[in-house]
Amino acid sequence: MKPELGLSRQPPRTRDTLDLAPRFTEHDAVRLNRMFRGTSTQEMLEAVIRDGLAGDLAVVSSFGAESAVLLHLIASVDPTVPVLFLDTGKHFPETLAYRDELVARLGLNLVVLTPDAEELAKRDETGLRWSYDPDGCCEIRKVRPLGKALVNFDASFTGRKAFQAATRANLPRFEVDTSDAQGRLKINPLIDWDAGQIEGYFIQHDLPRHPLIAQGYPSIGCSPCTSQVAPGEDPRSGRWKGWDKTECGIHKPGEEPFL
Ligand code: SF4
Repeated sequence: MKPELGLSRQPPRTRDTLDLAPRFTEHDAVRLNRMFRGTSTQEMLEAVIRDGLAGDLAVVSSFGAESAVLLHLIASVDPTVPVLFLDTGKHFPETLAYRDELVARLGLNLVVLTPDAEELAKRDETGLRWSYDPDGCCEIRKVRPLGKALVNFDASFTGRKAFQAATRANLPRFEVDTSDAQGRLKINPLIDWDAGQIEGYFIQHDLPRHPLIAQGYPSIGCSPCTSQVAPGEDPRSGRWKGWDKTECGIHKPGEEPFL
């Protein structure tokens, strides 16, 4: 559904014309960033979710170390917002158990996305593609299933935070998702939260922790591509250790801000 935002200024179209224009433009993202400058994360989420400001919404969650905060914030406004989880087939069993715990606790509307079985059989028959071509593995197991699912939405929430890595330091709250030509919005409600705020939110709302954090995993993805991190190290340095890779392809590293 095309959102009634008043932000996209496309010329009027006749009813029998296919509307192939992007839903949002970079100019829309700039306006949204300005509109919510100085407002709290909660206020922004209420406006975006309750007022339908960004159309049909979904959250993309890995149920990782800090995911509970965004999921709790969104469920507090509307627990029916779909939570998209990419079941790559390579998750730690602890992550799947943690996912189920949070779904039950927060009453989430979980949607599990899986890779295409035929493609998996053709391109990762042994299940070891991650060891010699992690980009290709992420493409099959994450990027494509998510791309297919997001076609049905106008915007998606991510849990990215600026402090997590240098590659995320300049991200704005609202940006246009450039993974395809559809012009969906990508919304980063926690982008300006620091580690102390995240911790404070966990304590304030008595949220359960991912069980692997206590074992030295501050950032948790698929099991073959996640290593323990020494105290004080960049939390995301344990992801794809030894590879020149910082993101799974869902997000592009070094995206420029629109502000
Ligand atoms: S994070 Fe690793 S195992 Fe998971 S999809 Fe990417 S390369 Fe494959």
